[in-house]
Amino acid sequence: MKKLLPSLLLAASLLAAAPQKPKLVLFIVVDQCRYDYLTRYGKEFRGGFDRLLRNGASFTNAQDNFFPTLTAVGHAILLTGAMPSATGIVGNDWFDRQTGKHVTSVSDDATRLVGTDGAEGASPRRLLVPTVGDELKKANGGRPRVLGIAVKDRSAILLAGQKADGAYWFDDKSGMFVTSSYYRSALPDWVRTFDDGHPADRYLGVTWLSHRIPKDGSPLYKPVERSPFGLELMEALAEHALQAEELGKRGETDLLALSFSSTDYVGHDYGPDSPEVHEALLSMDRLLEKLFQAVDREVGLSSVLVVMTSDHGVSPLPEVSRARKVPGGRLPLAAISDWVQAALASKYGPGKWVAGCWDLLIYLNRNLIAQKKLDVADVNRAAAEALLRMPHIARTYTREQLIDDPAVRDKTDRRVKESYDTVRGADIEFLPQPYWVFTTDQTMHGTTYDYDTHVPLIFMGSGIRAGRYDSTVPTNDIAPTLAEILGVPKPSGSVGRILSEMFTQ
Ligand SMILES: [Zn+2]
Repeated sequence: MKKLLPSLLLAASLLAAAPQKPKLVLFIVVDQCRYDYLTRYGKEFRGGFDRLLRNGASFTNAQDNFFPTLTAVGHAILLTGAMPSATGIVGNDWFDRQTGKHVTSVSDDATRLVGTDGAEGASPRRLLVPTVGDELKKANGGRPRVLGIAVKDRSAILLAGQKADGAYWFDDKSGMFVTSSYYRSALPDWVRTFDDGHPADRYLGVTWLSHRIPKDGSPLYKPVERSPFGLELMEALAEHALQAEELGKRGETDLLALSFSSTDYVGHDYGPDSPEVHEALLSMDRLLEKLFQAVDREVGLSSVLVVMTSDHGVSPLPEVSRARKVPGGRLPLAAISDWVQAALASKYGPGKWVAGCWDLLIYLNRNLIAQKKLDVADVNRAAAEALLRMPHIARTYTREQLIDDPAVRDKTDRRVKESYDTVRGADIEFLPQPYWVFTTDQTMHGTTYDYDTHVPLIFMGSGIRAGRYDSTVPTNDIAPTLAEILGVPKPSGSVGRILSEMFTQ
């Protein structure tokens, strides 16, 4: 007995250190939600954001520690804890050198959409590492339910992972929530019933602020998803999922991952300082509270771990920056691509030199380089040097610099290098100067500047000490922290640490 006592005490203290295992993890991504929205609108929040800020552990300096800060890249990191060099999700779009084709992070021609016209589907096939949901299922004989729901396919799929029971997203042509044959051959009854009510139709012809949702056009439901009404649709479907899938009620810990994409669309269309984004955030606040009350009725909020964060921030509209006497402007991707094309054509002769240019990634035409018997590294360097001469380009990186050059000047270099995937990575990656956006209208994100990288991160649940936590934490820390709370192995690509400072002892 005397001998047993110390080890029992030790076991008891270890048990007390990690929060109690929740019945449900409710993982919420508010797409393109900058941290400063919480402080800017904090006094106006009366709903879910307010509840999270009062009762949760809020990390005030959570940072996207990767490049480029785009939706697919960010969502792939949030529940894997890995860098893009390991997730394999290097952009929203990239050039697949094996097939010579443009691909998206989740496009998969071996699958079909389920719940609509049967067009090409999507899958997590390009995600190379497991998610927390995958680990949760693996450690518990597959019994936990893991679901992803979003307006965007990539957000639902990349949060949910390979072993998920389902991922559902909004099809802006049909106005329906759909899935892919990767998961199942038919929609479950609860999604079909939801779709049968044509929930998106009620917003056609409706006005929000000064914007009227048209009653016709193609794709018909695009203006719906690009408004706060997209948030309402998401919240309504999440409530159906809670009930129909009996989440948190079966003696297993389940995981429901939700990504509210419409905040991103509204932010792109009107900019972070607009009345429209303000309106979308107030809607989000109200809908989060509606969801929390539903969770409380169904499961009991005290047995649920809620995590709220974002995949990236956004730059102000350049016009707004200039009015504030901050430098900034537009560097359209087409102009960047044309600049590189012209430089290579003048140096090496005619031909289509750029194979693809998406966001901050440029892929060159390797076939043409081989045909002309040129050295790939020389051509990459020539392209990068030319691009650096373009006004308002701050930095360029060639594939060779990212792989071979050990020099790291600062945090920005480190982020770009640590994110580089040697198979899928671009030939040239670049960064514009701060407040310069690579789009002809609206605004954009993707850089390593704070307006793109600083996101909210709040944990709320039993065993979590509420309050502010001001240290800098990369969003890679979320996945290992969840794995610790769930008592499952860290996802294998994870590079983060456990945020144990918020655990009550
Ligand atoms: Zn996004």
